[in-house]
Amino acid sequence: MKSSAPPDVEQPVTVDKPFDVGKPLNTPHPVAQACPQCGSTEYKAVKPAAMIAFTSDRLCLSCSTQYTPPTPLWARFIFGVIGVAALGFSVVATYNIILGKLHGRLGLLTPFVVAVVGLGCLYKAVTK
Ligand SMILES: [Zn+2]
Repeated sequence: MKSSAPPDVEQPVTVDKPFDVGKPLNTPHPVAQACPQCGSTEYKAVKPAAMIAFTSDRLCLSCSTQYTPPTPLWARFIFGVIGVAALGFSVVATYNIILGKLHGRLGLLTPFVVAVVGLGCLYKAVTK
C-alpha cells in the first residue's frame, strides 16, 4: 500500500492538502520547531513535501534549510479519529457485502480504499 492508489479513485485537481497522492507519506525533511541547522525561527512557508500534511514546510531565512514542523496534537487526534472511523466503516461495509446485504454501487473496492486511507491516518497519528 505505497502510493499506488487505484486509478478510479477520484482526486480533486486543485486541492493539495491534506491528501496529496504521489508524494512520500512522511516528510523527507528534518522535523523541528526551529531550524535544525542554525536554530533560527525566521522562516518562509513552503509547500509541504509529505503526502499528508496539516502545516506547510518551512524554509529557513538564514541558511535556506528546509524543515517540517511537527504534526500538532489536535491534528494527530483528528487523524486518529478519522482512521478509526474509516477502518470501522470498511469492516462493516465488507461484512455487509459478504453477507449480501449491500449491493450495486458499493463494490469491495470502496471499503478497501477507505481502509487504506484509514491506515494512513492512523500511521500519521502515531508518527511525527
Ligand atoms: Zn537555518
